[in-house]
Amino acid sequence: MKLRQLEMALERLEGFPAPSPALEQYRTPAVLAARLLHHAWSRGDIEGKEVLDLGCGTGVLACGAMLLSARRAVGVDLDPAALATAEKNAGRLGVAVTFLRADISDLAKIGEAGPYDTVVMNPPFGAQKPHADRPFIDAALALAPTVYGIFNAGSLRFVDAYLAGRAEVTERVAARFPLRRTFRFHRDDVREMAVEIARMVRR
Ligand code: SAH
Repeated sequence: MKLRQLEMALERLEGFPAPSPALEQYRTPAVLAARLLHHAWSRGDIEGKEVLDLGCGTGVLACGAMLLSARRAVGVDLDPAALATAEKNAGRLGVAVTFLRADISDLAKIGEAGPYDTVVMNPPFGAQKPHADRPFIDAALALAPTVYGIFNAGSLRFVDAYLAGRAEVTERVAARFPLRRTFRFHRDDVREMAVEIARMVRR
């Protein structure tokens, strides 16, 4: 599937029904989700692979992975309302995704530790709770050898330091995150954030 086709398919999906600021529920824009997935696919990390979407929210990354011929996609989130939307979104695209309600740190405990080939994730950036991305990085590297994540452009060097030799960032792709006004404390209708898509490989 071409990048543009993937973008158009993902643009049809529904966003969060009642976004929670504490959980940093920002929907990943279709263009950005498509960019991450298509890049991962071009590196051989999606097609025929077991893909895990950590903090899947409305399921855009997990659904998109199936459109790019993943063997299986699993999406995990704490929020049942988001997961209900994710189920609807998978139905709309006609793809089969397994959605689980769980804390991303508990997958081993509930017997869903994989093995997975690839993690895709748009973790909380830590705007509400400092270092909220860290449990995501830890879980991702524990569950799959290859991880794609979206990070605030300014924080990737902290991510690098946090990895401390456990994994190597093999690629960084600069991208924009057009953040639509989601919460009352947002002042602008749309704010563009600079982000980076990082590919991490476990050592
Ligand atoms: N990629 C998704 C959502 C990104 S927002 C989309 O585009 O729709 C981050 C998501 O992580 C939210 O849905 C939030 O509910 C979830 N989340 C935050 N902490 C979590 C945790 N500890 N375990 C599972 N999910 C979590």
